[in-house]
Amino acid sequence: MSLRNGAAAPDTEAFRAQVRGWLEEHVPRGPLGSWTSPEGFEQHREWERVLFEGGYAAIDWPEEYGGRGADLFHTIAFAEEYYRAGAPARVNMGGLYLLGPILMRYGTEEQRRRWIPRLLSCEDIWCQGFSEPDSGSDLASLRTQAVREGDEFVVNGQKTWTSFGGFADWIFALVRTDPEAGREKKHRGITFLCVDLRSPGVEVRPLAMVDGTKGFAEVFFTDVRVPVANAVGEIGDGWRVAMSTLGFERGAVFGDHAKYSADVESFAELVRARGLDDDPLALDELGRLFVETEVYRANVYRLAELSENGVNLDLQASINKLYWTETQHHIFAAGLDLMGGLGIMGGGSSVVREALTPQAARVWADWHHRYWYARAAMIFGGTSEIQRNIISERLLELPMEPRR
Ligand SMILES: Cc1cc2nc3c(=O)[nH]c(=O)nc-3n(C[C@H](O)[C@H](O)[C@H](O)COP(=O)(O)OP(=O)(O)OC[C@H]3O[C@@H](n4cnc5c(N)ncnc54)[C@H](O)[C@@H]3O)c2cc1C
Repeated sequence: MSLRNGAAAPDTEAFRAQVRGWLEEHVPRGPLGSWTSPEGFEQHREWERVLFEGGYAAIDWPEEYGGRGADLFHTIAFAEEYYRAGAPARVNMGGLYLLGPILMRYGTEEQRRRWIPRLLSCEDIWCQGFSEPDSGSDLASLRTQAVREGDEFVVNGQKTWTSFGGFADWIFALVRTDPEAGREKKHRGITFLCVDLRSPGVEVRPLAMVDGTKGFAEVFFTDVRVPVANAVGEIGDGWRVAMSTLGFERGAVFGDHAKYSADVESFAELVRARGLDDDPLALDELGRLFVETEVYRANVYRLAELSENGVNLDLQASINKLYWTETQHHIFAAGLDLMGGLGIMGGGSSVVREALTPQAARVWADWHHRYWYARAAMIFGGTSEIQRNIISERLLELPMEPRR
């Protein structure tokens, strides 16, 4: 495989060995604090800086913006090594997986140079401002308005369910810049606008979570002045940019299969710790989860090949999202079943610690949290029902559902 900039590439296996060595040296020995707490988030941010300085923040992004200039197969190899090493979760998801690829597709050169290196080094944390209180699945009904005054937009409105909003520096938001066009067809007249959250008139209100974690927020805009130059893509054509963003969110996080494979290994650890390694039902479940994640892995390689050949994956991403969210849910639900009555207790419980090996107790420590996060994954980025609609209507071209 060759580097995109034409220079000779180390082959993927040599790169894999190099990554493995680097991770062995640099991955923090103990676990970091939870990224849902302000302190834990800062620790993760610091780790992202280490990754950036090591040249591993974004493997397949162009070198001029701080990436490594390799292809997607190197990205996948990196991710496989990353999860194998148990390295910390990445926390600038909005920037890394959504905004960065969008800037590369729709941004101006000035926008790329301004925002990409800072998001890679985690100097800027980005969040996504699409959903509004009455606009979730029906995103195009959004009402946040941006009225142009010279070289600026004046933004008023509210976003909600903003992941990382409590920790972020910037938000990329969908705003209505042409209400007239929107009255004809609601997908028109929307613009994708990047807003500095430190601007006067922005208020970020944390949303209390049932498990006490922080970071989720709602964002209010009152007469916020934003340079027109912060619009990504054509003004009024934000729907197209938004659909690409959701395509990236749903599908193309190349390498995340390695995370699920690691989770299946954790499930196997729980099976062993519960003394069920001869139990046909437990082994059947383990086999099913293993096959599910292997199918997903094969599909990730298939999609990488298509993407390297220039195929747009925005629609295929819906199949991917449906698949990975369901697989993830199956893994964590199976773990809860396996633990039986102990399943209601968290990893901190002394009863659980006594019943498991130390390694299995470490696995169980955040299983509940991950179970609930897997449930949420079936909602964020577009719910499973919406993915099924997209697959049936737009990929299979079956009859459309009735629309008002
Ligand atoms: C953990 C989490 C993080 C999130 N992070 C972000 C974020 O960072 N930024 C952001 O902008 N948003 C974020 N969201 C919001 C998310 O995108 C929305 O919750 C999602 O799009 C669904 O919208 P809604 O909650 O308004 O539900 P609704 O749209 O009201 O849907 C309610 C139910 O009706 C079903 N439904 C709706 N329409 C149809 C239809 N046409 N056919 C069949 N069924 C339908 C849905 O599937 C769902 O089950 C997040 C959500 C969660 C849970």
